[in-house]
Amino acid sequence: MQTHQYDVVIVGAGGAGMRAALESSKRTRTAVISKLYPTRSHTGAAQGGMCAALANVEEDNWEWHTFDTVKGGDYLVDQDAAEVMAKEAIDAVLDLEKMGLPFNRTPEGKIDQRRFGGHTRNHGEAAVRRSCYAADRTGHMILQTLYQQCVKNDVQFFNEFYVLDVLLSHDLTSGTVPDGQEVAVSGVVAYELATGEIHLFRAKSVVFATGGAGKIYKTTSNAQTLTGDGMALAFRRGIPLEDMEFFQFHPTGLAGLGILLSEAARGEGGILRNSDGERFMERYAPTIKDLAPRDIVARSMANEVREGRGAGPNKDYVLLDLTHLEPAHIDAKLPDITEFARTYLGIEPYTEPVPVYPTAHYAMGGIPTNILGEVLRNNTDTVRGLYAAGEVACVSVHGSNRLGTNSLLDINVFGKRSGIAAAEYALGADWVEMPEEPEVGVVAELERMRTLPSGERLAHVRQDLQNTMDANAQVFRTEESLRQALADIRALQERYRHVSVQDKGKVYNLDLLEALELGFLLDISEVVVVGALNRQESRGGHFREDFPKRDDANYMQHTMAYRRPSAATAAAGQSPSGPGTSAPGAFDVVLGYKPVVMTRYEPMERKY
Ligand SMILES: Cc1cc2nc3c(=O)[nH]c(=O)nc-3n(C[C@H](O)[C@H](O)[C@H](O)COP(=O)(O)OP(=O)(O)OC[C@H]3O[C@@H](n4cnc5c(N)ncnc54)[C@H](O)[C@@H]3O)c2cc1C
Repeated sequence: MQTHQYDVVIVGAGGAGMRAALESSKRTRTAVISKLYPTRSHTGAAQGGMCAALANVEEDNWEWHTFDTVKGGDYLVDQDAAEVMAKEAIDAVLDLEKMGLPFNRTPEGKIDQRRFGGHTRNHGEAAVRRSCYAADRTGHMILQTLYQQCVKNDVQFFNEFYVLDVLLSHDLTSGTVPDGQEVAVSGVVAYELATGEIHLFRAKSVVFATGGAGKIYKTTSNAQTLTGDGMALAFRRGIPLEDMEFFQFHPTGLAGLGILLSEAARGEGGILRNSDGERFMERYAPTIKDLAPRDIVARSMANEVREGRGAGPNKDYVLLDLTHLEPAHIDAKLPDITEFARTYLGIEPYTEPVPVYPTAHYAMGGIPTNILGEVLRNNTDTVRGLYAAGEVACVSVHGSNRLGTNSLLDINVFGKRSGIAAAEYALGADWVEMPEEPEVGVVAELERMRTLPSGERLAHVRQDLQNTMDANAQVFRTEESLRQALADIRALQERYRHVSVQDKGKVYNLDLLEALELGFLLDISEVVVVGALNRQESRGGHFREDFPKRDDANYMQHTMAYRRPSAATAAAGQSPSGPGTSAPGAFDVVLGYKPVVMTRYEPMERKY
């Protein structure tokens, strides 16, 4: 085992991690650990843009942006955080511009801006052009730009290293650490893919920036690697997860595949039509139509299909019509996504409408933080030295539904904030004692998986998980469907105990790591479904057919999900907390609530 020591360790080299690393490395010794080579992170797949009220092409201001974010999130947004994000958006874009990001330009040479769902002028009057973009490759440009800057700043990268545990001064899973007690982070344990070697990283500050968990679903826009690692690792160490029942389904995945066609397609004038050729969004959102927020558009599409107005031989998708746009305009603004339609569906978007259906896209929930990026272990106490930013975190700026282009913004604003906070904390803090033999839990779990002679195939368990999540915890949910999902997940957790990997080696053993990632997916799915069952209302991305109305009296609160020993475990006097999975039934998901921060916007009914 090798041991390393850095003031700040950042886990994840996507937009959030590298934005944090840039700030931190200017101040103190910083390492970034990433299971992927940095520029392969999912941020690089982001297409449509990053919003900021620059007012370059039409009147706009950050207060309208704040309001849109709060309303878009169905009032579950912490308004202080949304205000910070909308205000700092402008500098966040200009910072990237100064670093050299090649944004599209207006004829006058300013950063160009386009429309995106839910972004409006004057509190909902009409759609506004707020998204800054580089064709439909905005995320790619952000990632490349940040990586170059990190290299320039001598950030130390540990690539293809998987973080598998986070070390804390106290065992929070027991639920017995009193409120107010100081709890601190002391480092992380990582596994090197190339060698199978374990590495211990001692750090004063740790920033989690590990991205989302879209792979809990079968139909998803997310990359293969988005398995919720950071969320699951924190959760297994007793840190709560916030608002996990809110998952975003993006309206325009390529039908049957889930590959994303950016909302930019509608921002540039694309129209959704049903089998009758009707522009059906006129019925659901008369003012901004196809540019309504994603939860509303996705539900409307699913509803068209349910009511028999779907297109295609099985009537199971709707059509995204770009045929009225000039081919030159499509080529200039939407080159990649139209190529996806040609490559994957054999459709020519100049002349034919593209089959689309909602695809699992974004985790609104995650590790709870305050606006500095400090991780919360309950409603008020932070874990000293521990930070989270980006899709893994829940600040909460997206509430129950994120607006398009607000995530590339979130990763820049809160990546930067957490990088600064982590470095400044580290500069003034003492080293925290590491637990004895901090790696034993990880080593034991790896050995267990590697040495099981034969058993369940991991791909089968993962497939069954993704199928039940698609069938039972997707756009429409009911008590019955969610109970089914939970029963399936519990059975899959049992099967997971018997998953054996075929590759028994140490070098580049992806089989082994995918097995561990499957454990993360199972944990996250359970939290999503338990939260969804408990939330007997419909809000944003969470729609309960049996409770179709928003219920502010009972549920205008954030869900906080904790992993706690079950009664059986407690009775047996066991304390099995740690990085590995544990026997089904050893833990319960226990829910609490956290108040929503309201500053200036009273909740209203959401109409567009
Ligand atoms: C197809 C697509 C298009 C999108 N388009 C837009 C858009 O136009 N505008 C917008 O605002 N948002 C968009 N989004 C959402 C947005 O891109 C993401 O939410 C955001 O980029 C997430 O950034 P991140 O830094 O949090 O995580 P990521 O970019 O996903 O990076 C996660 C990092 O964590 C590392 N990691 C994960 N687990 C481990 C582990 N166990 N150990 C070590 N490292 C680990 C990975 O290696 C990776 O470097 C899009 C998303 C998708 C999927």
